[in-house]
Formats: sequence, C-alpha cells, structure tokens
Amino acid sequence: MTTLPLKKPLLRKDYLETDTMAFLAALLVAAFVVIIKFFTHLSVATTVLYITLVLMSANVFSIRMVVAVALSCLTVLTVIFIVERDYQSTEAIGAYVRCIVSLSAITFLALRSKRLADTLRRNEAYMVGAQRLSQVGSVGFRVDHSTMVWSEEAARIFEYPPHETPTMLKILARCHPDDRHLAEAVFEQASRHQPRLEVEHRLRMPDGRIKHIHLIANPLPLQHDGFEYVGAVMDVTASKEAEAALFQSQSQLAHVTRVTSLGELAASIAHEVNQPLAAIRSSGEACRRWLDRSEPDLGEVRMSLDRMIASSARASTVIQRIRTLSRNCDPERRTESFNDIVSDTIGLVQYELSRSHVKLRMELDAVPAYISADRVQLQQVILNLIINACQAMTEVDPRERLLKVRTWVHGGEAMLEIRDCGEGIAEDALASLFTPFFTTKADGLGMGLSICRSIVEFHEGRIWATSSQGDGAVFCIALPLMLHQTVAA
Ligand code: ADP
Repeated sequence: MTTLPLKKPLLRKDYLETDTMAFLAALLVAAFVVIIKFFTHLSVATTVLYITLVLMSANVFSIRMVVAVALSCLTVLTVIFIVERDYQSTEAIGAYVRCIVSLSAITFLALRSKRLADTLRRNEAYMVGAQRLSQVGSVGFRVDHSTMVWSEEAARIFEYPPHETPTMLKILARCHPDDRHLAEAVFEQASRHQPRLEVEHRLRMPDGRIKHIHLIANPLPLQHDGFEYVGAVMDVTASKEAEAALFQSQSQLAHVTRVTSLGELAASIAHEVNQPLAAIRSSGEACRRWLDRSEPDLGEVRMSLDRMIASSARASTVIQRIRTLSRNCDPERRTESFNDIVSDTIGLVQYELSRSHVKLRMELDAVPAYISADRVQLQQVILNLIINACQAMTEVDPRERLLKVRTWVHGGEAMLEIRDCGEGIAEDALASLFTPFFTTKADGLGMGLSICRSIVEFHEGRIWATSSQGDGAVFCIALPLMLHQTVAA
C-alpha cells in the first residue's frame, strides 16, 4: 500500500514562520527569474521557471502561500511587461497573455491537486489512527504476481518494521506451526479465485508469544489486469484470551454446580451403591451356608459367587458414573448416543424419583440419534432439569406426580422433552428463567438453568421452556445430529 508521508500537524506560529520564509524564497526566485529575463531575453524560459516555482511551492507551502507565490509571479510578469513597454508589440502582447494564461492554469491545477493530496493525507492519518485503535490492518495481494501490500498496522500485527515489504513467506514465517496449513489454504483458495477468503489462526512471534488473527478478504477487480484481494487482518488475541478465561470459569462453575447437584442426590447415590453391597453380603452369607453343609453344594456356591461378582460390577459402575460426574476437567466432545446419555442419567435419579413418589414415563425414540457431545455436561443438564421438576411437584398429591421424559428426532436435531405436572412457571418469569441468579426458591442459587443454557449453546443447541400455570412446566432441548445422520433424518 502506498503510504503518503505523514506530516506533523503544524501550529499557527509554525505556519507564519514557514509562510514568511516561503514568501522570501519566492521573492528571491522571482528576482532570479527577472535577472535571467534581463540577460537572456527568453520569455519561454522565464515562463517555465515561474511554473516550476509555483509547482515547487505547491509541494511545500500552504494553499495561501501558493496563491501568494502565483500572484507574485503574475505581478512580476506584468511589471516587466509594462517596464519593458512590451505592450507596443503585438507579438509580445500574445506572449504575455500566453504566459499569464498558462501560469494561471497551472496554479489552478496545482492548487486542486494540493487540496486532493491534503485530503488524502488527512484521510490516511485518520485511517492509520483508526487501524491502530481497532487493531485492524489492511492487506492486499495478488497471487498470480506474488505481490503483496499491507498497512503499517498490519505490519505491526505481524511484528515486522512498518515499511517492510510484505511477502507470503514472511507471513507464513509468523504462522503457528500447527496452523500453517490454514494460512496456506487461504493462499491456495486465492489462487482458485474464491469469491471470499476468511480464516482465523494463531501466530507465533519470534519470542514465543502467541497471537490470534482473523483475516477477511474479497477480490477487487483491477482496471486493466485481473484482480487483487483486498482485506482486513484483525488482532483478536485479547478477545480470544477473554473467551478462554470465560470458558474456563464457566466450566469451573459448571463443575461446582454439578457437585452441588450430586450433593442433592446424596440419598439416591447412597441407595444406588448400597443395593449391590447388600446383594454381595447376602450372596456371601448364602455361599458360606452352602459350604458349611456336611456335603457342600459347589454348584450353589458357584452361583452365589457369580451373583457377588455381578453385584460388585454394578457397584463399581455406579461409583464410576458418580466419579465421572464429579470430575473437574475441560469439556471434551465425542460421538455419543443421545438416548444412552438420557437413560444413563435417569439411572442416577431412579431412587430419587421413587423417594419423591414421582412416577416416570419414558418414551425414548427407537431410532438411535448420535450427537457430538460432552457426556458429563449433558448429564448435568438433564439432572438439573429432573431435580427442578421433582422440586416443582412437591405440592402435588403424591399419587398424581408424573414426570414424562421423551426423546425423538426432528429436522436434523435430537430432541428431549422433560414435562412435569408441578406448579408451572409464571408468564413473567419465563423470560428470566435462564438468566443467572434468577430463582423463586428460598434456598435456590438460580445458576442451574443459566449453566444448562451455556452447556447447550456450547453444543450448538437450543433450550427453552413453556408452561401454562397450574399445568406444569415443559423444558425442551434440541441438539444438532452428527452430519451423516442429518441426511438420513
Ligand atoms: P434454582 O433451582 O437454584 O432456583 P435454576 O436456575 O435451576 O435455579 O432455576 C431457576 C428458577 O426456574 C427456579 O427458581 C424456578 O422458579 C424456575 N423453575 C425451574 N424449573 C422449573 C419447573 N420444572 N417448574 C417450575 N419452575 C421451574
């Protein structure tokens, strides 16, 4: 990018000093021109000198001074014309008029281009300032000619000196080794004349610092010869770091609330673990009785031992599930069966439901739906919705407490509906349900649903609630199916 030299803004005092000096210099040159005129008698040569003088002053001085220089030249020309009595010759009058006209025309053109250059310079100063503030640089490149230009800010983002000529190799040299293929792919797309280029990747600076940039470029047709890509490169490091910090604190918060939910399910969990332990104990006692007989029944002993092994496996599955739910690690998405996640979670709350006298009606769609999900996070969402549903039904007659859990596939999404017959949600509360710290419970924290929403959004899904008061609440989740299934669905 051609960068016009930026001038330091001049103060009024500076202008006065410069203008005075300019005026003196112009007078000097004008005197010089007059002397040449007297000694050479070459009218064309003096006109050329006047024109050069006006053009030079347009390069250096303010518009006011250029006008002053031009007027001085015209005055000198006229004075010479009168002093030398040139008006007596028709030829000299013609030369004088030609001189005046060409000098005026050149002055007019010089002033116009000076005004344009000043505007351009000012706009460029604004642009450089704006680029600096917004940390957005501009780039332009032609893949066919392997040429590239960039603004000072773009050079700063890549940490090259401001006037360093950019090349694709210099840009690739700054790319993070793991992201180099992304930058190469952009140049490759450009060589295929793709209508829009967009990429986000990391840079690794020579001192090891990591930066994140976002580049967008569109083709700009050139007047005579093909087109070049013109675009913007943004330094998005700060927003990426903020995003990562937010993600980190959200997953820590999610962990804390998950552990809190597990605390609320403590009785249920104790029962889940206790059941297989009790079975192991009774099978062990039976085993001993079979062995204590005068003729030990080894067949029965073997069966008791098999029951003990199966029960201990069940206990360790329960413990494994709880350990997984209480672990604190970064979310990791894998291909998961949606129904498996739902039924696994229901397994954890079975006892809680029977303890709260809640009847469960499950309708899991027969078609297996596969989604890309972090199992633990989605279990947390379902757990939270079920605990809320149970709490909403505490005032309902125990014989009528009913929880319906339904899954199905619709329009490329795996759907889950959790419907209770509790107190329902007031119309005005519906809008605030997913807002952090919204709660209507005396001991509520109001974080559960807000965390559910961020988890579902992390999975590119949607969560919403409907309710007609007195008729219970319905919470729905829609999660995108894995790509190969979307086609089939
Ligand atoms: P908390 O349970 O700590 O209040 P949540 O974010 O899980 O936090 O829930 C926020 C609010 O949403 C609850 O206080 C309650 O008013 C409302 N709510 C959630 N689920 C239901 C439901 N199934 N029926 C009625 N109200 C509900």
